[in-house]
Amino acid sequence: MLRQNAWNVYSEEDAKQVEAFARSYRNFLDYGKTERECVKQIKAIAKEKGFVDLEEVMNSNKKLVPGDKVIMTHMGKLAALFVIGKKPLEQGLHIVGAHIDSPRMDLKQNPLFEDGSLAYLDTHYYGGVKKYQWVTQPLALHGVVVKKDGSVLEFTIGEKDEDPVLGISDLLIHVSQNQLEKKASVVIEGEDLNLIVGSKPLEDAESDPVKAMIVKVLEEEYNIEEEDFVRAELEVVPAGKSRDFGLDRSMILGYGHDDKCCAYPTLQAILSIDEAPEYTAMALFTDKEEIGSVGATGSHSRVIENTVAELCALTGEYSDLKTRRAMQHSRVLSADVTSVFDPTYAAEFEKKNTAFMGLGLTINKYTGSRGKSGANDASAEYVAAVTRIFDDNKVAFQTSEIGKVDHGGGGTIAYILGNYGAEVVDCGVPVMSMHAPYEIISKADLYEAYKGYLAFMKHKR
Ligand code: MN
Ligand code: MN
Repeated sequence: MLRQNAWNVYSEEDAKQVEAFARSYRNFLDYGKTERECVKQIKAIAKEKGFVDLEEVMNSNKKLVPGDKVIMTHMGKLAALFVIGKKPLEQGLHIVGAHIDSPRMDLKQNPLFEDGSLAYLDTHYYGGVKKYQWVTQPLALHGVVVKKDGSVLEFTIGEKDEDPVLGISDLLIHVSQNQLEKKASVVIEGEDLNLIVGSKPLEDAESDPVKAMIVKVLEEEYNIEEEDFVRAELEVVPAGKSRDFGLDRSMILGYGHDDKCCAYPTLQAILSIDEAPEYTAMALFTDKEEIGSVGATGSHSRVIENTVAELCALTGEYSDLKTRRAMQHSRVLSADVTSVFDPTYAAEFEKKNTAFMGLGLTINKYTGSRGKSGANDASAEYVAAVTRIFDDNKVAFQTSEIGKVDHGGGGTIAYILGNYGAEVVDCGVPVMSMHAPYEIISKADLYEAYKGYLAFMKHKR
C-alpha cells in the first residue's frame, strides 16, 4: 500500500499555512510545558473566541442552542470545549481527545537536602522515561506552591535568558568503568535523579550551610519556605524553547510533543468551527495519561460524563438515559502520538505497518502489547468511516502499529472512552525519540492532524 508524502502535494500557499501553524504550535508548546499551563492557555484562547464557562451558562438559566460554545475546566488540569450541534445530544458527540501531561520529574514533598557541599531537590519521575536521558541537561522548574493560608504561588524558574537553570549530574567518563557495565535501565536509577540547586554556604549556619543558603534564597527571592514544598506541585522539565529541526526546517524539536502535538491541532480544530455542526463537537484535554489516566483529572474521571450530563440538561430535558445514549452514540478520535519509523533502529519496526515522518496523520487501529493486550481495537466499520472522512477532505493519513509484535507497545485513552460503548480509534502525529527530553515531529504531520480533526468534528455521518 503506497501513501503519498504530504509535502509532495502542498501548493506554495499550503506550505505557508503549514509553516504558520507550526509557528503558533511552537508558541503553545513553549508556554505549555505542564498540564496547568496548557489549560491556562486553552482557556484564554477559547474565551477570546467566544467560549463561555459551563458554570456561567448554568447560572444564567438560559438554554444552549446549536452553535453555542462552552468550556469546562477541572482543577486547572483538565479541559473540555464544546460547540453545540444541530442534532440532540443523545444522538452522540464527535469527540477528539488528547492529553496534556508529559513525562517529567516531580519534586518530592520533602525534597531539599545537602550532600558533599551541594544542595539538592529530590525528585520522583512521572511517566515512562529512560532515566539516563535526563542527566546533564538544562532543566527548569514549573508549577505551583500553595501557601499555608491557601494562596497559590505560580512559578517558573529556568525559562528566561537571565534565569538560572538546574540539572542532574552524570559520572565523568574517566571513572565510569563500573557504570558502563550496567544495563541501560539501571545505569541511572530513580533515586539518582537529584536536582542540583546550590553550592554556596550560608555564613553562621548551624548545620547544612549550603542547604541553609538555598532556604534563604527561596524565602527572599521566591517567597517559599521549606515546609511549603509539602503543598506544592513542582515539575522538572527541560529548560528552553522548541526549535525548527533539520536544514530544511521541516521538523520541530521540542519537549512534550507527546501529546501537545495532538492537543494543539485539537484545540485549533474546534476553534475553526464557524457554524453549528450537525453533531456536538467536543475537544477534550486530559491529564495523567502518562500514569494511567487515573484520578479526578484523567480520562477515567467521571467529570467528563458529568459535563455531558450538564449539557443534556442545558440543551433540553435531562435524563440519565439521555446522557448514557449521548456517550454511547459518540464517535471518538483518541488523539495521541505514535511511533515513527527510525532507520537507525529499523529492527524494532515492521515496515509495512509503521508510520513514516511526513506521511501524515496516523491511524492506529489498535495499540497495546503482547498480543494487543490493553488495546481498544477499533471496529473495521468505524475505521472505514474515519478513513472516508479523511479521503473526502484530502487529509494525508497513514496506518501503523507502535513497533514489531512482542517488542514492546503502548496505550492511550482510547479504551476508556470505548468503555462507554462509543466508537473510538487512535489517530495522531508520529513522534521520534518519544518520551525523551527532546522529541521530534514533522510540521506536515502536525498540520494534517489539524485538517483531520476539523473534518472529523464537522462530518455529518
Ligand atoms: Mn501520549
Ligand atoms: Mn506518552
